[in-house]
Amino acid sequence: MKEFGYRRAHDVTGAVALLAADPEARFLGGGTNLVDLMKSGVERPALLVDVRELPLDRIETTADGGLRIGATVTNSDLAAHPEVRRHYPALAQAVLAGASGQLRNMATVGGNLLQRTRCGYFTDVSKPCNKRSPGSGCPAVAGEHHNHAVLGASGHCVAVHPSDMGVALTAFDAVVSYESADGPGRSPITDFYLPVGDTPHRETALPPGALITHVSLPAAPVAAHSRYRKVRERASYAFAIGSVAAALDIEDGVVREARLALGAVASRPWRARAAEAVLTGAPADGATFAAAADAELAAARPLPDNGYKVTLMRNLVVSVLTELAGSDAR
Ligand SMILES: Cc1cc2nc3c(=O)[nH]c(=O)nc-3n(C[C@H](O)[C@H](O)[C@H](O)COP(=O)(O)OP(=O)(O)OC[C@H]3O[C@@H](n4cnc5c(N)ncnc54)[C@H](O)[C@@H]3O)c2cc1C
Ligand code: SF4
Repeated sequence: MKEFGYRRAHDVTGAVALLAADPEARFLGGGTNLVDLMKSGVERPALLVDVRELPLDRIETTADGGLRIGATVTNSDLAAHPEVRRHYPALAQAVLAGASGQLRNMATVGGNLLQRTRCGYFTDVSKPCNKRSPGSGCPAVAGEHHNHAVLGASGHCVAVHPSDMGVALTAFDAVVSYESADGPGRSPITDFYLPVGDTPHRETALPPGALITHVSLPAAPVAAHSRYRKVRERASYAFAIGSVAAALDIEDGVVREARLALGAVASRPWRARAAEAVLTGAPADGATFAAAADAELAAARPLPDNGYKVTLMRNLVVSVLTELAGSDAR
């Protein structure tokens, strides 16, 4: 591991200034992803700026009835928060479906959103990888890709985003706020993650050196009737091979409002707007749910070894929507 410096930031301005002064510096949240990547040589920062003592560890209700979640709130505290559990249950479920108790105690909201892909070529510095080393190629396309993307990928990169939390935040129209050397900024999470195109190394709209300060969730009554379901290769402590965050508001058997986001199918948490369009105003029944899944997955372009994901996601969407429609949550 390369030698590196360590500084603890005590205020947001100071933290941003430290990164502005050193392009090789990185923020350190819980370190559960960054330190692993440093050990494997994928990340080689000269300086770590620890953000965990910044005053960004609170979850507050906003004037419109939404939530403002500080960037250093741990995954454990987020999942346990009563307002999150009551108003956005799929978010609490998504966080609890990730990693392990010990990791969730360390991992932060900002770090979770910026965690890197688990593609095996990305984490192996002896292999080419366009995301790690632009222009070097993507061996996953013709190689190991059984858990790679079926939506929105390009020939330059077919990796998936690993965050469970991000999928629920995407369903609920979260907005990511940050502080940069040029001042504050914010981005809807659906724009925060950039399309892959031919620049898979550019993952987010965050300006260089910017610090995520908080994530806002607008009030969304539909989110109170939500579920997160994750499919993985073992029962716990594993990343998703497919996941769904869904919310339904049904009145007199008709879907008034629907939210749907898919995980582990694309380079970013995938907002399923084509499916939502089919659901809205339609009868809340199996035929509608299947049509909604098909509408979204019509854009799927599986690789030779991950076509199973299309079937898996169709079944998962239908199953979660059916469960929601049948629940006493309306
Ligand atoms: C064994 C294992 C299993 C896991 N399983 C899952 C899983 O099933 N689902 C899942 O979603 N995740 C899973 N994870 C990933 C885990 O959730 C992430 O590692 C964690 O959320 C990252 O948060 P962190 O605070 O530790 O980030 P760090 O490792 O500290 O940082 C990650 C990145 O974010 C940057 N960063 C951190 N905070 C900020 C900020 N405020 N502003 C700007 N940049 C920032 C860092 O510079 C770094 O680039 C797993 C991890 C491990 C090790
Ligand atoms: S899928 Fe993306 S991360 Fe994986 S090897 Fe290809 S370019 Fe790298």
